[in-house]
Amino acid sequence: MSKELIRLADCSMAFDGETVLNSINLGIKDREFLTLLGPSGCGKTTTLRIIGGFETPTSGDVFFDGVRINGVPPYKRKVNTVFQKYALFPHLNVYENIAFGLRIPRPDPSDTAMRPAKISLGEKDIARRVHESLELVGLRGYEKRRVHQLSGGQQQRVAIARAVVNRPQVLLLDEPLGALDLKLRKEMQQELKTIQQQVGITFVYVTHDQEEALTMSDTVVVMNHGSIQQIGSPVDIYNEPVNAFVADFIGESNILTGVMHRDYLVEFSGRQWECVDTGFDPNQPVDVVIRPEDVTVTRDIAAAPLTGVVASTTFKGVHYEMIIECGDERWMVHSTHAQPPGETVGLSLEPVDIHIMDKPEEFDNPESAARVSDTADEDFDA
Ligand code: ATP
Repeated sequence: MSKELIRLADCSMAFDGETVLNSINLGIKDREFLTLLGPSGCGKTTTLRIIGGFETPTSGDVFFDGVRINGVPPYKRKVNTVFQKYALFPHLNVYENIAFGLRIPRPDPSDTAMRPAKISLGEKDIARRVHESLELVGLRGYEKRRVHQLSGGQQQRVAIARAVVNRPQVLLLDEPLGALDLKLRKEMQQELKTIQQQVGITFVYVTHDQEEALTMSDTVVVMNHGSIQQIGSPVDIYNEPVNAFVADFIGESNILTGVMHRDYLVEFSGRQWECVDTGFDPNQPVDVVIRPEDVTVTRDIAAAPLTGVVASTTFKGVHYEMIIECGDERWMVHSTHAQPPGETVGLSLEPVDIHIMDKPEEFDNPESAARVSDTADEDFDA
């Protein structure tokens, strides 16, 4: 991928003495679709506002194209923002809402110092750019519509058209689909990804919806309590979560307590298992994360390493979800074959499906999280 465009270096933020961002280190590449993902209050919006210039970090630095931009106000940054609330002007029609973005002074994109230059476009150029933007969001022909005559999805498209019309290098999107119903939301997810590729700019997207993050992003940044937990591609984050928080937040997981005896050998659920993990201390207590879809259920109990009794079976559309009691532990298993409640079954696992994580008290430290993930390593070593 292309060069790094934005860097947050050791950025912390406190409001009224309370730390809400804890030494964030993050590089965002040109033309990347990067998503900040995490539960409510974890600091996603604050991170976005720091990039946009709406907040100045209490400590740390923000760089744009290698230039330090702490304190540079939003209108001097080559960055636009789309909020969940569309913030369109009700008294203007669609055309004028979008043209508005071209009638306010913006920095000259070729000026790396980002001094505010007054770009004055003639009406002909404004019309061309408005039409291009409307084309991009699939709303050609809606120029004369009033805002109140549009659906929520159409209003959000206008907001996106307005945000890209003056060709920012970066678009910040704060839960832009949050107000839409599920079906429209899914359609817009695909559209947003297409728009990002067509305009060829960087998108920094905030959501607490893991599926949305996995669907759209090149890179996902998982946050919790003001700290970055993991940075990686959707596949990395899903398949190789660095700790139990990420594993649980990204998808349903069985999280079991275990002990890493040595490289490639872990003990949990009363027996020892071959695994693929290395680099833990001998006999280190660990969390063991197992995805429900990675467990194989068999009636051949004698051959299975673990046995349990099916407590419940629920049809979920593409699979059955079974809760299986193995002694004191309750395992969640997803399978296309249902086993009836009360049945004794065997459970087996491949070594590659056993994910070993540091215990929670260690994972607040990004260095410790980075140790397990190659992708994260790059980004934490600012
Ligand atoms: P959500 O998904 O709910 O929007 P978030 O992850 O975007 O959450 P932030 O909005 O960044 O989280 O907020 C992080 C923390 O900072 C919260 O505890 C919030 O109450 C606090 N906070 C944010 N802005 C301010 C402010 N201006 N003054 C005081 N506290 C603030």
